[in-house]
Amino acid sequence: MAVAIIALMSIRSINPATGETLKSFDELSEPQIEESLTRAANAFRNSRRTSLADRSSMMLRVAEILENEKNDYARLMTTEMGKPIKAAAQEAEKCAWVCRYYAETAEKHLADQIVETNATKSYVHFQPLGVVLAVMPWNFPFWQVFRFAAPALMAGNVGLLKHASNVPQCALAITDIFSRAGFPDGAFQTLLIGSEAVQDVLEDSRVAAATLTGSEPAGRSVASIAGKQIKKTVLELGGSDPFIVMPSADLKEAVGTAVKARTINNGQSCIAAKRFIVHGQIYDEFEKGFVEAMKALRVGDPMNESTDVGPLATKQILKDLEEQVQVSVAAGAKILTGGQRLKFEDQLAGGNFYEPTVLADIPKDSPAFSDEIFGPVASLFHVKDIDEAIDLANATTFGLGAAAWTNDSTERDRFVEEIESGCVFLNGVVASDLRLPFGGVKHSGYGRGLGEFGIREFVNVKTVWIK
Ligand code: NAP
Repeated sequence: MAVAIIALMSIRSINPATGETLKSFDELSEPQIEESLTRAANAFRNSRRTSLADRSSMMLRVAEILENEKNDYARLMTTEMGKPIKAAAQEAEKCAWVCRYYAETAEKHLADQIVETNATKSYVHFQPLGVVLAVMPWNFPFWQVFRFAAPALMAGNVGLLKHASNVPQCALAITDIFSRAGFPDGAFQTLLIGSEAVQDVLEDSRVAAATLTGSEPAGRSVASIAGKQIKKTVLELGGSDPFIVMPSADLKEAVGTAVKARTINNGQSCIAAKRFIVHGQIYDEFEKGFVEAMKALRVGDPMNESTDVGPLATKQILKDLEEQVQVSVAAGAKILTGGQRLKFEDQLAGGNFYEPTVLADIPKDSPAFSDEIFGPVASLFHVKDIDEAIDLANATTFGLGAAAWTNDSTERDRFVEEIESGCVFLNGVVASDLRLPFGGVKHSGYGRGLGEFGIREFVNVKTVWIK
């Protein structure tokens, strides 16, 4: 394998609330990557022969470690990427849940399926694919990894994690959990590498498949490299989810949920509601309640349990967000609240804070209309009827999630049928649930995580036919 790393760049963990550099790591050298790939390939030779029961007991041990040490992992997530501490602890719990779920259901999801044909016996048999490269984002630094790893490892695959460069400590902590839970050497490894080193790893013949959760450009790159090598990929990319409110909805509940749905994870979630599409009959009331509630959010230290919105994960994300708002305003959008960086005088002076912001009167050619906005900035739209609401909801290249608020059954059916997205939530917040498939259409990606569909992504669906 030829890994072209010209210079060893450092991967840094920086506290986004203070700007303090916490730790730096050197990227892996070419021989170190080679050694990891060999270990992964060797691990797969053994793991494909381990029983589901053995894998299940190791996965349950992973869940126990996550549960027992959730507060330590929460502090690690919050110091590395700034999510509010309570949400970080919930993330660790959800990771434990996904491990338990697949430990308990993998046998059922992967059981042979008998199909009656002219053979004496014919059936579908599921086998692991091999070493799977997982390129993961920082925004849910534990959850994104476990969402992939729990089903992939239960199916007998081996995981190679290339985590985002700003969360190396989370990456190493996750690898340590799998190792402490008894997964054999090489079964789950972290590669401390930058994105430019992904191509050579993905092209290596010992890597069978890849999954990427992240931005559209990163997805395009990984998919095209894998495509040339005829390797399976699953892509979980960005979103610009609509949140539609119709006159029959419970408005108070819709407003409260809208604020949470926009500002979850400091506004940095793929399935955060980003475009609020409101029927004219209730628009003014919605706008008033929504703006007031966005204004009332407490922005500050993510380690403080009462903080609603913490810092953005990196200085670059803050800069990009600021620019998206400025360009949208220059194009004619109106700021109803926020619209500025937030400066603190204390130990948070170096943090990446941005005010919760609401934009209205958004022109079609502006970023607030067409881009994914990754921060606490909401785009508000006024529509005259359901046709306009659906057209606007679909006027995006993305198609991840969608929420619609209505108590009218005809409208409900139309939203389910006509919104172009991987999921539609009615009168509720879009969220992943391990029992249900999760993924997108259009430029939000392809393939599904979670549920029965998730564990079937990285398997060979083998047909067996016996005369
Ligand atoms: P990103 O820049 O694409 O980074 C995600 C991962 O991809 C990181 O590990 C990054 O490594 C790597 N990467 C970046 N460019 C690459 C390339 N050309 N080739 C190979 N790997 C590459 O995304 P982000 O800005 O950190 O994350 C936010 C995005 O993720 C948003 O668009 C969000 O909607 C999306 N997301 C989607 C889901 C979902 O389930 N659909 C969930 C969460 C987030 P480095 O850090 O080293 O650059």
